[in-house]
Amino acid sequence: MKQIIPFISNSDNDTQTEWLNSLRQAMPNYRILPFAELTSHDKTESTVAIVANPSIAEVDQLPNLKWVQSLWAGVENLVKSELDMSVKIVKLTDERLSQTMVEAAIASTFYLHREIPVYRRQQIVGEWSQRPVALASERTVGVLGLGALGACVANQLATLNFNVFGWSRSVRSGEKGDNAPEVECFHGQNGLMEVLRRSEILIVLLPLTQETHGLLDTKKLSVLPKGASVINFARGPIVVEQDLLGLLDSDHLNHAVLDVFDHEPLEPSHAFWQHKQITVWPHIAAPTDKRSASRIVAINLDKYFVVGEIPRTIDREREY
Ligand code: NAP
Repeated sequence: MKQIIPFISNSDNDTQTEWLNSLRQAMPNYRILPFAELTSHDKTESTVAIVANPSIAEVDQLPNLKWVQSLWAGVENLVKSELDMSVKIVKLTDERLSQTMVEAAIASTFYLHREIPVYRRQQIVGEWSQRPVALASERTVGVLGLGALGACVANQLATLNFNVFGWSRSVRSGEKGDNAPEVECFHGQNGLMEVLRRSEILIVLLPLTQETHGLLDTKKLSVLPKGASVINFARGPIVVEQDLLGLLDSDHLNHAVLDVFDHEPLEPSHAFWQHKQITVWPHIAAPTDKRSASRIVAINLDKYFVVGEIPRTIDREREY
């Protein structure tokens, strides 16, 4: 008798079908069932569920649930939902996702480093004008957040010769075994100011929590050197939209590459679309790859059912 695993999602029907196909292919030893197909016995027996934008009312109908496996790396909606505090949350940690984010970060860092937005504007008005060229080793990049994604991004940029500064909540010892060995690391509010003061390009890869919501406002963004640029690949509300616009308009900041927004999809009337110093991406920096994510979920479920081990979970108090 195959173990039943509930799949709970509010995504549209096509997306749910794609997920079910991918999960079932990666886990032929389990029966993955959408909520609507669970019997009351299935609901009572389930101790783990796979979730993607789930209805909490449905999750609540699994009385013996111990943990949920999210299909996303960002779990702020689950964390701030009414999900019972006893239910552990496992976010998606996938090397393929980290590598996708590294590629997005490298692309946008070089885009800013080689001043492509300036040449694009010059092209529109037919202006032939050459600017001095700096080497990566003459450019400083700050990475806020040194987790599964930020640490990979920071290490790779350092390998490409950028001077990289990283910021996290906890102290990095700088010793072997740290996840950002190529990077000068800072923590705490003073550390944040230090990283901001030095960063000509700032990459945001923090989770959205009560502490990071609105973190980058006028006061903090003004600490960046004049002419600095911002890349937000984390979550929109970490950077205060109006404050960012104000600093771009006053030319304190040079450019912003934004993949994430307060409201997605970005409304057609939003000022970001037409702003010449903003590059808009439609939340595609590092999408979840269904096949790869399904393989990770399969490994996690096997560990849980074979040796009783729940993968590393979100700290519900810390929110990430
Ligand atoms: P993660 O592994 O949880 O790492 C979070 C990092 O942020 C850690 O280094 C943590 O510090 C640091 N941090 C958290 N709160 C902090 C605070 N208050 N002060 C200083 N540092 C703080 O997260 P991840 O997997 O790297 O993902 C980061 C975010 O990227 C996700 O939450 C999601 O929102 C976003 N994302 C975006 C896309 C996209 O396509 N745009 C795709 C995937 C994910 P410690 O190391 O000290 O704990």
